[in-house]
Amino acid sequence: MVRVRFAPSPTGYLHVGGARTALFNWLFARKNKGKFILRIEDTDTERSTRESEQMIMNDLKWLGLFWDEGPDIGGEFGPYRQSERLKLYKEYAYELVKNGHAYFAVYDKDDPKNVLYTTTQEPKDGNPYTVVFKVPENEIVKFNDMLKGEIEFSTEHMDDFIILKSNGYPVYNFAVVIDDHLMGITHVLRGEDHISNTPKQILIYRAFGWEPPKFMHIPLILGADKTPLSKRHGATAVEHFRREGYLSKALVNYLAILGWSVDEEIFDYTQKIDSFTPDRISNKNVVFDYQKLEWVNGKHMRLLTVDELYTHFEEWRNFVGAEKRIPKEVLEICREKVNTLKQLYEFALPFVDEEYEYSQDYIEKFAKKPEAVSIIELALERFSSLENYDIQNVETTLREIAASLNIGTNKVFQTIRGALLGRLVTPGLFESIVVLGKEETIRRLQRTLDFIRKLS
Ligand code: GLU
Repeated sequence: MVRVRFAPSPTGYLHVGGARTALFNWLFARKNKGKFILRIEDTDTERSTRESEQMIMNDLKWLGLFWDEGPDIGGEFGPYRQSERLKLYKEYAYELVKNGHAYFAVYDKDDPKNVLYTTTQEPKDGNPYTVVFKVPENEIVKFNDMLKGEIEFSTEHMDDFIILKSNGYPVYNFAVVIDDHLMGITHVLRGEDHISNTPKQILIYRAFGWEPPKFMHIPLILGADKTPLSKRHGATAVEHFRREGYLSKALVNYLAILGWSVDEEIFDYTQKIDSFTPDRISNKNVVFDYQKLEWVNGKHMRLLTVDELYTHFEEWRNFVGAEKRIPKEVLEICREKVNTLKQLYEFALPFVDEEYEYSQDYIEKFAKKPEAVSIIELALERFSSLENYDIQNVETTLREIAASLNIGTNKVFQTIRGALLGRLVTPGLFESIVVLGKEETIRRLQRTLDFIRKLS
């Protein structure tokens, strides 16, 4: 059975690159009806935190990448946090010493950088010691990467390396082998930055006489300048995109098309599981394109029904603590012009903000013009007596106002648009007026009249 894992170090937030690695593992497990395991690699005691672990788990759940075994839900092969597996690492490190593949290095307790001696007997003289792996001389380490093909390393320039530190913690290269083996991991899909670690890991597998898993090293996500995507390029945290109002399915969709060739660009990844084959993952470097991501998000937003959009919007509003409620009808008329839930909120805000402000361009180009007052006064009069307040009648009324004042429709429409919403970019004017409703339209026209009169 296929068993894969995502093994984040909880030293910060979930990076989009990590999310993409998790996605590929998740898809691979689902496609092969296997298991997706979450393992927390918290052996860096200075930088690992439980908050970070929690954040990473929250983000994975938000993305919909649920795991079958992990620190929070347990499983047959636990514990799933490396800090809870120290006994195992020690046991296996000592076994390597016993088999002649490792030795103890003993340090001067007053000068811990100074190696006093090495031995194959457990030191008992009170000095700190590490367990060091003995790298065999002039051996060729080969493995067949599922993406990159055959990779070969010689041990010629490889030094012996510590596997167990004096504080009892394993190093990454050791813990990862013990865990992947004991957890029955069949395939290791991870970032290309780990290729150089793989030979060390394979040597450890060999020393135990264990069969290594299959490896697939995925190209890293790069920034525009072709260096690994980092904060210097812009946001990289999954949570950032959640706050900015991205839909999780859109973010996952984007991460999937970043280096995985599929026939369509916009899809629901949960419907794509069957077409996920590793040979479709590109071996080329991929550049994170913020604009493309926004475009993908806009596409996903427009695929939602109004009710679905409302549900996502409310979830987002809760998450970021955005104060104002926006009625569904307002979301519906605002959705066409925006690409994220946050943009939707900002675009819709004037509809629910009774104290909306007037933009500078509205004031200069329309509110200050001599005909503004007569346009708004006439609109007040006509809308007050309008019986059927629907799109058709609203449009007719506005055109009649323009005709009777002998002013161009564009000028009339923009003057009214800004009067009602404070801005010149809004959803369609007629629908906006209907959504505001008669009473609110009249109140807002009056408010603007007062405002304009104070201008002069
Ligand atoms: N903890 C490692 C990392 O976050 C995992 C690497 C691996 O998948 O082997 O990079």
